[in-house]
Amino acid sequence: MRKRTRILGRTLAAAGTLAALTVATAVPATAAPQAKAAEPTSVEQDIAQLYQDVEDLYNGLPANALRGVDPLFDSPVKRPGQQAHAAQGPIPGCTEGSLLTYANKLASSLNPTEAKALSALSAIGQLYTQAVASDKTPQVFGTDGQYTPRAGATIDKLRGFWDIESWNIQLVTWKGTDLGSQERTTQTFKLGLDPKRAAEAGALATKVLYEVPALQGGRHPLLTLNAFSAPADSLGGKRIMLGDGLLDVVNHLGFDDVSVEAVVGHEYGHQVDFAHDNYPRDESGEMGPDAYGGYFGAHAKGEAWNARTQQEVTYLDASIGDCYHSHGTPDQRKAAGAWGEKQAVSQNNPNRIIPSAKMIEKFQKEYPKLMPPAAAALAAAH
Ligand SMILES: [Zn+2]
Repeated sequence: MRKRTRILGRTLAAAGTLAALTVATAVPATAAPQAKAAEPTSVEQDIAQLYQDVEDLYNGLPANALRGVDPLFDSPVKRPGQQAHAAQGPIPGCTEGSLLTYANKLASSLNPTEAKALSALSAIGQLYTQAVASDKTPQVFGTDGQYTPRAGATIDKLRGFWDIESWNIQLVTWKGTDLGSQERTTQTFKLGLDPKRAAEAGALATKVLYEVPALQGGRHPLLTLNAFSAPADSLGGKRIMLGDGLLDVVNHLGFDDVSVEAVVGHEYGHQVDFAHDNYPRDESGEMGPDAYGGYFGAHAKGEAWNARTQQEVTYLDASIGDCYHSHGTPDQRKAAGAWGEKQAVSQNNPNRIIPSAKMIEKFQKEYPKLMPPAAAALAAAH
């Protein structure tokens, strides 16, 4: 439970800057009383109903369904049912990472109706990927399948690299286009709603997907702009989920050559923590996987990346840093990744792999030193 509380708290901390997207209750200030006369269009009615269905779906899930499921970064797309709390102010002197800036820009280009539809549909897709989809059926990574070979090669390598139980860690694709399948959306709604209502909601989801042109039939990157790692006792069990939207945006930002390997390497780092029941409550919960991912990337038995590519990955780490006490600032994430890489390249025997328990211990010892001065000062002031 601890972990879930922490994530929720962090997600909410970031919500302040993103108030524009908490469209569930947001009413434009310009909506004068006479606007009441305008009846909602049928599309708006569909979206409102779907949003309600998704809230009820999430409320109907088993208690531990989402426990410990960790996103790569705090997305501007909030799931229905996530409540906004008073936001903690941003860390002074911090600039959020480029991927977050890009995601926020994408979010702000949607009108409130589109954003509400996207939020509901993204939540359905996320749950489908976590609890219905399975890697027993062939997984297609990237909007055109372009990342499938790299994803398969990376998870195979990771399974052999870290000394944790790995055969039952699934790597599953998160695709916005799955929302076009009424069978899939209905199966997802059945996780929390009775079969009759699930069938209605499933049909409505696919209807809304095509009623809102901005969603591009499921190809809008914000629908799937994240990656997740889920522990054994969450709904769907141990798995890593990789969003097509994330890969698209990382490509757009210029990190395409390392995207799949770095992101899956990070998410697998969460599996390393899960395997050792290591659930830190501070930023080391995210920075640890950055470090383990960096170690894997630079290691001769991992990706064996050269110095230049290693540096590129630390910039990718930084691009998802935020300025709240959430998933780590850009500087923190960069420092954690670079520390992990250094552990690999400074070994006497380049082929030796540090046991995962030892790696966690080493990182926990290093972590306080990786806090940049601004964040450390703020933490001290509290
Ligand atoms: Zn993470």
